[in-house]
Amino acid sequence: MPELLDLRELLELDRRHVWHPYGPMPGRQEPLLVESASGVRLRVAGTGDLIDGMSSWWSAIHGYNHPVLNAAAHGQVERMSHVMFGGLTHEPAVRLAAKLVEITPEPLQHVFLADSGSVSVEVAVKMCLQYWRSVGRPAKQRLLTWRGGYHGDTWQPMSVCDPEGGMHELWSGALPRQVFADAPPAEFDEAYADRLRELIGLHAHEVAAVIVEPVVQGAGGMRFHSPAYLRVLREACDAHDVLLVFDEIATGFGRTGELFAADHAGVSPDVMCVGKALTGGYLTMAATLCTERVAAGIAQGEVPVLAHGPTFMGNPLASAVALASIELLLGQDWRQEVKRLETGLRDGLADVAGLPGVRDVRVLGAIGVVQLDRPVDMAAATRAAVREGVWLRPFRDLVYTMPPYVTGDADLAQICRAVRAVAQEG
Ligand SMILES: *Cc1c(COP(=O)(O)O)cnc(C)c1O
Repeated sequence: MPELLDLRELLELDRRHVWHPYGPMPGRQEPLLVESASGVRLRVAGTGDLIDGMSSWWSAIHGYNHPVLNAAAHGQVERMSHVMFGGLTHEPAVRLAAKLVEITPEPLQHVFLADSGSVSVEVAVKMCLQYWRSVGRPAKQRLLTWRGGYHGDTWQPMSVCDPEGGMHELWSGALPRQVFADAPPAEFDEAYADRLRELIGLHAHEVAAVIVEPVVQGAGGMRFHSPAYLRVLREACDAHDVLLVFDEIATGFGRTGELFAADHAGVSPDVMCVGKALTGGYLTMAATLCTERVAAGIAQGEVPVLAHGPTFMGNPLASAVALASIELLLGQDWRQEVKRLETGLRDGLADVAGLPGVRDVRVLGAIGVVQLDRPVDMAAATRAAVREGVWLRPFRDLVYTMPPYVTGDADLAQICRAVRAVAQEG
């Protein structure tokens, strides 16, 4: 059995040398080794096929090994997979930027192509701070957000992640100190809205921007909130000269049932980040979009340029696949597909709410969440899901799924059974 020997070797090398997300070194839990992936299935060495309930962290919306995305990647790789973006440009990046401007809220006109979600948030923050500096208000350097958020793992994004119980608590003394409101309640609450308005007014002299994940807070706790809060934020930011940043890295490209979560409220931010599903999960790329006002403000400054330029900015391969992924999405009735998944998740998870130890079950668009009254035992949870033929990756007290949009009804039902099995475990 040479293959099994290879597997053991690989896993041992992995354990000794390879960091995994939020992992210890050396590794303590053995990861599954994926050999290939196709449609909604991951082929796992020694285990067989697993239905992917995670879309590889919100990204693989069209599933794996998709012929259209493969063709886009092959076509581009034969032309060029990368050239520098300083002083050069190319059709994939130009067309992608134009497409993003077309499909995002109207005032967003300018696109910075970044190489990951976290970097796009760094760029968003830099845009906002530099805007105020350029228009003569350099004291506006802080950010305001609500608790329960997640914006990435680099420095500025960490500073606006939930400061307690979140993944970055360790750094609370070292990070820039931002202004936090309480986490938004699920339903609209006028008293909470008033406190938000008040907090923005109180700190407007020092706050450059409010940054939030609209409608769905993802890795900070998988919480949903009323879109009406986005209108409150928009009005308060306008009233107090504060910029508004929407981090749509998780919510973008249809996941919540609208193309962008901002569309639930009809609100347009000054700056918006997209990532994750941007390339259909093929390659790493994100984008920061801003309005003409923000760009013009930066341009009138003492330093009239945005001093940011990653080596792999505008990567042609990622751009070509992103463009193909967006066209693939828009070329189908994606709204209907997401609706179908929403209905399937509601049906499939309906009776999970009655299980002992389950605190809450919530579904929005193609996102299904089961919240327990205790932290999940990760190893036991993985075993339970794998027994059901499904890949899930719970965190804290949350068992959740955001399946690829191409997930069929039978596969979706199987994912729901796995979520239930994990919720029952322990
Ligand atoms: C994942 C995520 C990020 C960070 O993106 P990376 O590509 O992992 O750096 C930022 N904001 C939100 C809302 C995310 O879900």
